[in-house]
Amino acid sequence: IHEGVRDIADETSMQLLGEKLASCVPKGALWTLSGELGAGKSVLVRSVIHALGYKGRVKSPTYTLIETYDVSAQLGSAINNIAHLDLYRLQDPAELDYLGFDDLIREHDLVMIEWPEQGGDRLPRADLHISITYGVEDRRQVVFSIP
Ligand code: ADP
Repeated sequence: IHEGVRDIADETSMQLLGEKLASCVPKGALWTLSGELGAGKSVLVRSVIHALGYKGRVKSPTYTLIETYDVSAQLGSAINNIAHLDLYRLQDPAELDYLGFDDLIREHDLVMIEWPEQGGDRLPRADLHISITYGVEDRRQVVFSIP
C-alpha cells in the first residue's frame, strides 16, 4: 500500500478498493479512517472485512464502539481476526482504557479505527491513514498516508 491519492468514481469502485487493500494487509496492521458522515468509511471497511473471509453482516460499531470478527477460515491470508472501532461517540479518550484498548490492538491481526481524532493521543501511531473526501455526486477521493 503506497501513499497517494485514489479517485473513486462510485460505490462499486470503493468496494473494489477495499478488496485490493484486503489482499495486501500485513498481520498486525492498524489503520485509521477519516471522513465526514457518509463519506464511505463503512463501505470501505465492510468490503475489507468481507474480502478477508467474513460471511455475515458487518455491523456499525457506532454505539458499541467496537465490533470484532473472526476470519480464521480464510486460506492464504495472514489475518485471523479483525477489530473495527468507531470512536464517533467516544466522550473522552480515557474511555479507551475501559475498553481494554491496548489488549484489543494486540489481540487482533487487523485493527481499523473510524474517527481516530476522537481518541486523541491515546491512539498509537497508525500504519496507514485513509482519508475520504467527497467529490461531485458519487465521486470520492481516497488519500493514503503513513503518519
Ligand atoms: P461513513 O461510514 O463514512 O459515514 P458510509 O459508508 O456509511 O459512510 O456511507 C456512504 C454512503 O454513500 C452510502 O450510502 C453509499 O451508498 C454512498 N456512496 C455513494 N458513492 C459512494 C462511493 N464512491 N464510495 C462509498 N460510498 C458511496
